[in-house]
Amino acid sequence: MALEFRCANVGVTDCRASFKADTAEDLLAQVAAHAEKVHDVALNDTLVNYALTTVVER
Ligand SMILES: [Zn+2]
Repeated sequence: MALEFRCANVGVTDCRASFKADTAEDLLAQVAAHAEKVHDVALNDTLVNYALTTVVER
């Protein structure tokens, strides 16, 4: 079982990036780096909480 996050699930419909990790902490680290580099967005608590609501287990 792994956690999965997709940019498309938070409304970034033109981004096909997806991330997988065993823990939410690892996942958020990957997502934060991607958001900053690709989308020029710095994750704050609100964005992190929203992102976590869209994470699915696979
Ligand atoms: Zn993205």
